[in-house]
Amino acid sequence: MVNVGILGATGMVGQRFIQLLADHPKFEITALTASKRSAGKKYEDAATWYLDSPIPESVKDITVVDTDPNEAKDVDIVFSALPTEHAAVVEPKFAKSCIVASNASAMRMEPDVPLVIPEVNPEHLDMIEIQQKNRGWDGFIVTNPNCSTIALTITLKPLYDQYNIKRVYVSTMQAVSGAGYNGVPSMAIVDNLVPFIGGEEEKMESETLHLLGEFDGETVIPATFGVSASCHRVAVVDGHTEAVFIEMEDGFEIDDVKKSLKNYKGLPQKLDLFSAPKNPIIVREEENRPQPRMDRNMDNGMAVTVGRIREDAAFDNSLRYVLVGHNTVRGAAGASILNAELINEIM
Ligand code: NAP
Repeated sequence: MVNVGILGATGMVGQRFIQLLADHPKFEITALTASKRSAGKKYEDAATWYLDSPIPESVKDITVVDTDPNEAKDVDIVFSALPTEHAAVVEPKFAKSCIVASNASAMRMEPDVPLVIPEVNPEHLDMIEIQQKNRGWDGFIVTNPNCSTIALTITLKPLYDQYNIKRVYVSTMQAVSGAGYNGVPSMAIVDNLVPFIGGEEEKMESETLHLLGEFDGETVIPATFGVSASCHRVAVVDGHTEAVFIEMEDGFEIDDVKKSLKNYKGLPQKLDLFSAPKNPIIVREEENRPQPRMDRNMDNGMAVTVGRIREDAAFDNSLRYVLVGHNTVRGAAGASILNAELINEIM
């Protein structure tokens, strides 16, 4: 078994890590960290558990430690669910000696840090060698994208491989868990919608092009089509919904688009990794799907569900669809775990 630690283990994403790793066949949780407020407490006393399955017995009595490599010792991999500003300081300290699989945005766009979705751009992991050389680390940092970007880019990948995409517009309806436990006060979101999520639109626009870009052995050359995002918080607990509008350079058949999405498989499916969904994209034909409550947990929350795939008659060569992806599973903890499983398998 590989010993793993979870940094920020008491938060929304940290709890998902615990849930997803509790019965993992290769990774064993041996260290949990959080802020100084939680350090020294048993995990079950430190965390305000919000998931609808109980806290796994195997972690209840683990003592939470401060987020410091001298406290969380003897780990081969750490999964980071830290706030970005803290991740920027702490993750490099851990990377001196172990693998850091991070959800935080702090290091995502560093030129020598791979930003990876295993179904989309596993070849960007080749950057690790450069990172270790540049920084003199024995370990390294690998990151996964922002929760909305992951779901969008998984659906764009098969289309990008097959068509010339000219522009993508995306409008998101994002769950409250995406902002963390203390993120959105109930008085701000019940009976309401908040039409702004700080930094989210910029992340979607830059990370999508980076993920679909080419690693030329030294750096990533981003994809060149236009991406425009508008991001909104809605009163849903888990599961981000996105309305996607794509303009292609040339014409397409709608049935071919559906086939490309439905049949898409990437490296995790070929390698049959433990957390890989059988199909990363599930296509629904009903006119009222996908919906977050019904579709967020497809394939243990690791599949993205796409529906309402149709031509957009208002513009030439245009397509629209709606997707739902689980933001704390496929969009966060599950994404990091899949990155670590891939690294564990191929490196
Ligand atoms: P959260 O619920 O606010 O949890 C934050 C965690 O970090 C808690 O365990 C907290 O410990 C710990 N922490 C806070 N300040 C710290 C400090 N100074 N030193 C050490 N630990 C500290 O946040 P979250 O939603 O899980 O998000 C975690 C990270 O994942 C963020 O970078 C976020 O942007 C990213 N992310 C989140 C989502 C999502 O859907 N939620 C998706 C993708 C990426 P205490 O309990 O002790 O305060």
